Amino acid sequence: MTDRSQALTDAFMADMRDKNPGEDLFLQAVEEVALDVITVEKANSDYTAARILARLTEPDRVIAFRINWEDDAGMVQINRGWRVQHCNAVGPYKGGLRFASSVTPSVLKFLGFEQTFKNALTGLQLGGAKGGANFEPKGRSKNEVMRFCHAFMSELQHHIGPSRDIPAGDIGVGTREIGFLFAAWKQNNRDFAGVLTGKSLCIGGSQLRVEATGYGLVYFLCAMLGTANEDIEGKRIAISGMGNVALHAARKALALGGRVVSLSDTSGVIEASDGLTAAALDWIEARKAANESVGAPPRELGMVFRPGSNPWSIECDVALPCATQNEINAKDARALLDAGCRFLAEGANMPLTADAQRIIHDSDICYAPGKVSNAGGVAVSGLEMAQNATFRPLPAEEVDRTLRGIMVDIHGKLRTEAQSDTTSQKRIDYRRAANRVAYRRVAEALLDYGVI
Ligand code: NDP
Repeated sequence: MTDRSQALTDAFMADMRDKNPGEDLFLQAVEEVALDVITVEKANSDYTAARILARLTEPDRVIAFRINWEDDAGMVQINRGWRVQHCNAVGPYKGGLRFASSVTPSVLKFLGFEQTFKNALTGLQLGGAKGGANFEPKGRSKNEVMRFCHAFMSELQHHIGPSRDIPAGDIGVGTREIGFLFAAWKQNNRDFAGVLTGKSLCIGGSQLRVEATGYGLVYFLCAMLGTANEDIEGKRIAISGMGNVALHAARKALALGGRVVSLSDTSGVIEASDGLTAAALDWIEARKAANESVGAPPRELGMVFRPGSNPWSIECDVALPCATQNEINAKDARALLDAGCRFLAEGANMPLTADAQRIIHDSDICYAPGKVSNAGGVAVSGLEMAQNATFRPLPAEEVDRTLRGIMVDIHGKLRTEAQSDTTSQKRIDYRRAANRVAYRRVAEALLDYGVI
């Protein structure tokens, strides 16, 4: 990054802070992008005149609604729901739904902003959006979750459609919740269309959608390793999270010969210095699915549980943070360097705090941001949309081949961009390349529309 881009970004961010007070995650995400693209905008008079970056930092619209539902005790519960339709310049709005007590419009605004860039990188016709509710599914019965989903969709349905806005899952919204949501949409609209992705196979889902983000992350990691003339065989891989992304990344890494030395959840970390086996992953997955603690793993599975700890001081070659935003702070980033980590690819969205970003960016670690390395999920969602539109399901091998092709293609685009970037260093700066490639794709689309 040059002094000029820092100075231009500082000026731009002063205005952003005035307009978005207190929206720290959103401001953090915008600043990371602005640093990489602001000189691209200034160097192109059409982009400058069209004020592309300023436009891209305002969502097209933020829809807010109330959700009333009844819990198992017959009490009326009230939650808030939102859909941030960020940008549909290159395709219909697309992005997940998150149900968690921590969801706010600001969190969804940051995620929608990132989603626009990620989706543009896939090369598919997908705009960016994000939505959700401040509903905490943990501790709720299946019937309560179902009633909540039906009530949530009775509001959201007015704003989505197969060529308008196609939500998917995210934290707290898995295949089961997507089924409940789709049921309400289908019933209320008297229609069966690809209005949600992440469905189960029997109601129009795609093969490998559940696995796609974790598998895609590992495919991207393999491409990164390839540029350093290395491969995944025998690499010690520290993974955080024990949810969808983490578990499937662990399974794919194991299948390709990697040694997965950790997984973690909000209670602590599971460590396996010799690498987690398939049997160990089965045990973890079964415990999580049953909502049970992983705090006492059977000795014969070769893993130990450390309560309240995280994976970042475990010796590793590769780190794959797959839990949540800002899970790695400056101290964790330094611990990762001390632990010998040389490659870091994000499964979660923005898992590094701004300070951790700077430490990793200035280090020798080869680093890929989530908008690049976790794009496999939305890519297979794009394939699910195509299958729904043509009523023709694809076999798993074809989806897997296409997913791998998309991740390799994204890697190739970023390598080409890095090679043509005169300020770029020897090692590929995936963040900078991704922001610039995605920005240009969306900017060109916005120019084609004129000012509207
Ligand atoms: P899940 O809800 O399935 O899993 C999240 C996991 O992370 C859980 O094991 C949870 O622990 C753990 N976790 C959450 N917060 C913390 C924390 N502060 N410290 C330690 N562990 C934590 O979510 P996903 O796997 O679907 O998503 C994970 C990340 O990947 C998110 O950032 C999401 O936006 C991103 N992502 C997901 C995609 C997808 O297809 N699912 C696509 C692209 C990005 P516990 O079990 O104790 O709650």
